[in-house]
Amino acid sequence: MRGVLARGLGRAYGDAAQNGGGRVLDMTAFDAIRAFDDHHGRITVDAGASIAAIAARTLPRGWFPAVVPGTRWVTVGGAIAADVHGKNHHGDGGFADHVSAFELVTPQGERRTVTRHTDRQAWAATVGGMGLSGVIASATLELTAVRSPVVREELARTADLDELLVRMSRDDRAHHYSVAWVDCAHVSARGILMQGDHADAPGAPAAVPPPRLRAPRWAPGNLLGRATVRAFDALWFHLKPRVRRSDRVALASFFWPLDGVQGWNRLYGARGLVQHQCVVPHGREDALHAILASARAARIAPTLAVLKRLGPATENAPLSFPIAGWTLALDLPAGARGLARLLDGWDELVAAAGGRVYLAKDARMRAETLTAMYPALDRWRAARAACDPQRVMRSDLGRRLELTP
Ligand SMILES: Cc1cc2nc3c(=O)[nH]c(=O)nc-3n(C[C@H](O)[C@H](O)[C@H](O)COP(=O)(O)OP(=O)(O)OC[C@H]3O[C@@H](n4cnc5c(N)ncnc54)[C@H](O)[C@@H]3O)c2cc1C
Repeated sequence: MRGVLARGLGRAYGDAAQNGGGRVLDMTAFDAIRAFDDHHGRITVDAGASIAAIAARTLPRGWFPAVVPGTRWVTVGGAIAADVHGKNHHGDGGFADHVSAFELVTPQGERRTVTRHTDRQAWAATVGGMGLSGVIASATLELTAVRSPVVREELARTADLDELLVRMSRDDRAHHYSVAWVDCAHVSARGILMQGDHADAPGAPAAVPPPRLRAPRWAPGNLLGRATVRAFDALWFHLKPRVRRSDRVALASFFWPLDGVQGWNRLYGARGLVQHQCVVPHGREDALHAILASARAARIAPTLAVLKRLGPATENAPLSFPIAGWTLALDLPAGARGLARLLDGWDELVAAAGGRVYLAKDARMRAETLTAMYPALDRWRAARAACDPQRVMRSDLGRRLELTP
């Protein structure tokens, strides 16, 4: 029995939204905005509505989704199922922390209204549950009040990884949003810290602009090889100001820079990319150093490396990814020689440090490693089984990681 799975906009990097040989429900047609209370900043939408559509509707009235991931092309269903985090997790928590209720349709045909207080079992199974407890049909989100569609961004170069970690620990509390780019091609792992706050600019807020650049339909597989990455990273680092500088930037370019290049993933050629995103707890910064050092030793250059500081885990969500600590996301060309061994080594390192890999980004981890990373896995399994005792909800990710044995 290959079962059924709901799918949103397919922005999960691996096999989370795939169900080979089974049924997949495309939820994107269910995208209605059912109610928008612009007095209290609350919106109720069908689960196929995208963050892009919600932002376009709410921004002109001075509201913005409280948590947004690095692309606006995700659905609310996908955002709850992965409990996505943004650049403000250190202060505001994850997506589900701003969901006041959602409707879950279970394979039994029940339509349950779930809140964090009223149906704790369905909440635990669904928030971060990667679609394996049922189909999220709709949700009510609490929004953040904004005065403009502009972000006041501060940029600062850092000489190495330790300086970056110190600055983020020290300054993050003073900013709503914070994210860093790490130059993995450089031995020091120098970086650029980008911190931002919604600007208090008066005037009519504009809508989110459409993408400006388009990647070519075809790119050679070695376009993003080591030499190109090193040259690009060095250029980017030197283009950024040496000292701290404050800029007013459009909200879309601050939150969703990759959305500005339509089809950016095609730059990786036919073999594509793999992303490894982990989180390690505070005090285990040595694991971040070890990951970057081993990439250099293996002569595999991550094409993009992003670091964020996460706050406490979402309450009662045993399979949700964020825990307090550092999350490092590394994009790697899929065909690189020795990549599989390198990534297996990172998984072990992360598990030994008390950290975990993000399931929404994973395409290759092994089931035994997962058990070490998610200590409350059995609690999630029990909650999931109560929603779907006949194990109708299935996915390739679930099978590979034996989430639903
Ligand atoms: C460029 C880029 C940047 C990203 N940045 C971030 C980031 O900063 N932070 C972060 O946390 N993530 C980030 N992501 C990952 C992305 O936010 C998640 O993978 C998200 O789940 C994708 O939503 P989707 O609608 O595309 O869902 P899909 O990819 O289609 O599905 C993801 C999971 O959600 C489940 N699902 C989808 N809809 C429903 C539904 N209605 N009911 C039940 N289950 C459902 C699917 O079964 C699957 O398990 C990024 C992805 C990209 C491509």
